[in-house]
Amino acid sequence: MKIIINRVYPNFAEQKMYIQWEVESPPSVEATFDVFRSESPTGGFEQIASNLRNTYFYVDQFENTPGFFSLDRSIYYKVAISCSGERVESNPVYFDGAISADPMEQRDVDASYRHMKRNQYDKQLRLLRNKLILDFKLGLEKIYGISAILLKRKRWGTRCGLCYDPIANKQIKSHCDKCYDTTWVGGYIPTPILVHEQKPMPIQSGKDIPGPIEIKQTSFSTLYFPKINYDDIIAIRYNNTRYHIKSVSDTYIRTIPIHQTIISEIIPPDHIVYKIDIDTMEGMFNV
Ligand SMILES: [Zn+2]
Repeated sequence: MKIIINRVYPNFAEQKMYIQWEVESPPSVEATFDVFRSESPTGGFEQIASNLRNTYFYVDQFENTPGFFSLDRSIYYKVAISCSGERVESNPVYFDGAISADPMEQRDVDASYRHMKRNQYDKQLRLLRNKLILDFKLGLEKIYGISAILLKRKRWGTRCGLCYDPIANKQIKSHCDKCYDTTWVGGYIPTPILVHEQKPMPIQSGKDIPGPIEIKQTSFSTLYFPKINYDDIIAIRYNNTRYHIKSVSDTYIRTIPIHQTIISEIIPPDHIVYKIDIDTMEGMFNV
């Protein structure tokens, strides 16, 4: 069992930090998560959330700690997973307000070097990043965003007792409405998001391929968080169309990751994932 923080991302305007994680070699039963924050990589770490269940991220709110969250400060996070009496912590990762696309693990970075690196250029990049992210977010919210549910595919939790064979370590029966063919009970964790549907992708063809080949792919862009992965699903609210994520790429402006671009394929209406009811999923992920 191993836990890795795979994204730390700020919203300076609303004084929030988004922390996302993934679990490797997960146990077959439900786990809980604790989140810790520090101003130093060596601690002490303050516990800011405990016993989180059935989630893959946490949003750290700073409105009650004025001055803590600023462009000038480094903030370190750790996440712990607990399960069946076992407890494992992630490496501390830090957010320096700067330039890296993803959190850097403390073990990879020399603290004195980090301090020296902090210069005026960094500050300008931080300000620029703040503006670019905010502009994209406002565009989604006010102009071109459409309401969707990210169905985050479960990769840990409780194994499905109906279709999963633990000896063979595979699914032995498909079209399972307990895990929606993920082998993890519940199948997906829903997160409301906004997406921007792009122009249809060009149809791919090659001169060696006889006849036209139609590849029905749809492209969306969305905020840089939550981090979206292959095989997650996006469900569009207004028409209930669902798409399998086939690839995700990050879009950068001057090394600053601004948004994710998703290539997806529409899911046929007889697929088991249409049994997941999205009508009752209220609210909007607002980071
Ligand atoms: Zn199942």
